[in-house]
Amino acid sequence: MGIKRKILLEEEKIPKEWYNILADLPCPLPPVLHPATGKPVTPEDLAPIFPLSLIQQEVSTERYIPIPEEVLEIYKMWRPTPLYRAINLERYLDTPAHIYYKYEGVSPPGSHKPNTAVAQAYFNKLEGVKRLTTETGAGQWGSALAFACNLFGLECKVYMVKVSYYQKPYRRSLMETWGAKVVPSPSPDTEAGRKILEKDPESLGSLGIAISEAVEDAVKRDDTKYSLGSVLNHVLLHQTIIGEEALLQLEMVDEFPDVVIGCVGGGSNFAGLSFPFLREKFKGKKIEVIAVEPESCPSLTKGIYTYDFGDTAKTTPLLKMYTLGHNFIPPGIHAGGLRYHGMAPIVSTLYHHGYISARAYHQLDVFDSAVIFARTEGIVPAPESAHAIKAVIDEAKDAKEKGEKRVILFNLSGHGFFDLSAYDQYFAGKLENFAYPREKVEEALKDLPKV
Ligand SMILES: *Cc1c(COP(=O)(O)O)cnc(C)c1O
Repeated sequence: MGIKRKILLEEEKIPKEWYNILADLPCPLPPVLHPATGKPVTPEDLAPIFPLSLIQQEVSTERYIPIPEEVLEIYKMWRPTPLYRAINLERYLDTPAHIYYKYEGVSPPGSHKPNTAVAQAYFNKLEGVKRLTTETGAGQWGSALAFACNLFGLECKVYMVKVSYYQKPYRRSLMETWGAKVVPSPSPDTEAGRKILEKDPESLGSLGIAISEAVEDAVKRDDTKYSLGSVLNHVLLHQTIIGEEALLQLEMVDEFPDVVIGCVGGGSNFAGLSFPFLREKFKGKKIEVIAVEPESCPSLTKGIYTYDFGDTAKTTPLLKMYTLGHNFIPPGIHAGGLRYHGMAPIVSTLYHHGYISARAYHQLDVFDSAVIFARTEGIVPAPESAHAIKAVIDEAKDAKEKGEKRVILFNLSGHGFFDLSAYDQYFAGKLENFAYPREKVEEALKDLPKV
């Protein structure tokens, strides 16, 4: 019937600029504060950890920032990514809705994360940095940075949360294949790590500890900087190539979305797809933009909009964001990612001022949706991305009830090949729902920094 399943953008048509939403933000973005002085951070404060060009991007209000030629050349290894029309899923749901998804799982590391990892490695290399450090939980970010560093000849050291290091050996294999050095955190390589190990040699680690180790390592060596995979403005900026491509691809089939959906951990894949569409919304287009998170880590839907640390160890600057508190410990039963306690400051202010909405789902519903998607569209989604799919299915059912031809666009942020053990648990009936209790959020309030 001539419906296109894949809408492919030619390599030459790849967008040449990232979209900086700070140029158009209709609501204020509170400044990042220094944890000791409570004053806005200066570029000098950040210089030991980030290269100047990324610090400049962090605060830039230029609407478009050119993507360097070298970065575009690497993007072309997998970009433009395909935009799919989910025809099989539409038929399965018997919905009049048109469902489109941008598939970021075609990148070598299997997610959207190399869009920023490659850019960050490039700008660090340009400023003479020889080595990057980072932390990783389940390993997606670590593998994206390992991939990027390898292409630019940078050394890469990844502090991997110890429990994941042993439970998810294949992500480690991937990082090592691309030449990164991976150590279980807490490690004996840093003061922060040694301190924890002294107290508790069996410590399983946490993202907070791993961040402290990676930052300490970067601060202590002149040839080394630190790299973060989500939350910060420049990370969200680099991801906007996803939405810019999607706009061109939808134009090719003469469509425009009524609803744009993405899952949110720190907010980067959601921002990457939705910010270029929000630009159109600010200009008057009617679009609903929905961020989807787990009930077990509901920063937007249950968190508090306030200043908090980015890490458990309280080493980072203070960000104004929706937070569950920097002491948040993700419940062990939660199979997917999306376990960060906070949310990107830009996404937070957009939510606070009503430009986007948010929903939280239970993990059993999320896996039900993941399996429906795998059995109709074929692609096994990352559990994170499956949160977005659950919202898409709800929207498509609602459109059916109301007899509306609703155009739904979502970000399929990655594939689930490294998460099959979570699928196993789901099929074995070992996954349980868990709603993060409101009292815990109120308890966390007591620990928030006073500013
Ligand atoms: C890391 C990751 C996420 C969550 O991070 P965001 O910064 O919120 O995008 C979502 N999906 C996949 C596949 C990921 O690897």
